[in-house]
Amino acid sequence: MKKILVLEDESNIRSFVVINLRRSGFEPIEAASGEEALEKLKVNPDICLALLDVMLPDIDGFEVCRRIRASGSKMGIIMLTAKNQEIDKVTGLMTGADDYVTKPFSPAELTARVDALIRRLGVDEDEKNASELVSGPFLLNTRNRTLEKDGQRLKLTQIEYLLIKLFMENPGKAMSREDILSAVWGSDFTGELKTVDVNIRRLRIKIEDDPTEPEYLTTVWGYGYKWGY
Ligand code: CA
Repeated sequence: MKKILVLEDESNIRSFVVINLRRSGFEPIEAASGEEALEKLKVNPDICLALLDVMLPDIDGFEVCRRIRASGSKMGIIMLTAKNQEIDKVTGLMTGADDYVTKPFSPAELTARVDALIRRLGVDEDEKNASELVSGPFLLNTRNRTLEKDGQRLKLTQIEYLLIKLFMENPGKAMSREDILSAVWGSDFTGELKTVDVNIRRLRIKIEDDPTEPEYLTTVWGYGYKWGY
């Protein structure tokens, strides 16, 4: 069960949050003050997300947030802010919070935000692991959609990016122009196969040392292209 820290000094709000998190399958860890929250975090290093109230009797929620981030933690942080405290939202996001929920909130709203943040954090982890494709001098980063050759950033259009991604994901595989067209432009694209050739030519100018003698993106005569490196 995923542990969630609930920092809230008002006991009725705290138990309302705790009950709803429990109902949604989480394990809430309660704290009524900033100091208590930091203690609970020390004892429970597996807490994956924290809900932090801002107005507290001792150190405020922003300070708790700042200290969590200062410790190097990447846990999800949602600030619980009072109504119409726009400044709180800005301050919260600046101190390293991921999201905020304005009081009063419904149980559905809170759990939706919690679920969304947990999903986002999970997805980010997966993306980080599978975000780089390396082939010869090329490094394709699928997270920020960039391509480097020998450490130099190459400027690509979105189509060129999708093309090179397709090739780098299928090294050595001969791909027909029909396959390329449907993979990059979508299966309902009604354009001509020539579109593929035109864009490959442009891509070659950017990536090949000599575009007239392509060495990476090679032609498979009478069929299509392949990532030949
Ligand atoms: Ca409070």
